[in-house]
Amino acid sequence: MLTVVDHPLAGHLLASLRDRDTGPARFRALARQLTVSLILEATRDLPTRPRVVATPLEQTEGREISAGLVAVPILRAGLGMLDAVTDAFPDVGVGYVGLERDERTLRPRTYYEKLPPLEGKHALLLDPMLATGGSAVAATRSIAAGRPESLRMVCVVAAPEGVRAMEEAHPEVPIFTAALDRELNERGYILPGIGDFGDRLYGTGPGSA
Ligand code: URA
Repeated sequence: MLTVVDHPLAGHLLASLRDRDTGPARFRALARQLTVSLILEATRDLPTRPRVVATPLEQTEGREISAGLVAVPILRAGLGMLDAVTDAFPDVGVGYVGLERDERTLRPRTYYEKLPPLEGKHALLLDPMLATGGSAVAATRSIAAGRPESLRMVCVVAAPEGVRAMEEAHPEVPIFTAALDRELNERGYILPGIGDFGDRLYGTGPGSA
């Protein structure tokens, strides 16, 4: 299931992320801010338990999150979303999956994987650009092998092709995004898109200093 988070603030932040004149420092700040609104939606149904608290005036019943949460950014662009998750959920466990395209098979190949125990945990897969879906499908397979209680994917922009690939391979994984864009171009970039998210995050694109 795809959820497009259409909050006005998310739209506002996304427009600045898309803007080609946005430099890396502002891009990183925007990515972090936008991820907050995405993870609020993605974690809406996390289990909580009652917690009695004493206010300065009287005792009342509040709630606390009872679920163990694990965030898994796909390297490297997913790192741009991670701080928002660790800010909001300081106790979150963090795992990493690094994937690159095998130029011989054209399939994603895992070059790094370090996942904490996932059994019974609620996992958040972080990958800002759901393009062909190859990396997301592969990372989801790795995380699912750890038998988490739930798994959700959070991205900034999704292409129809990537959503289709995820829905075919992992229909049980809900996807949260700020936008469903039009299509992929012949090089696998999302249109209208944001460009290369990792390059924009770290200033490593063509022509960068
Ligand atoms: N990865 C990116 O960084 N951008 C795209 O448009 C597609 C994949």
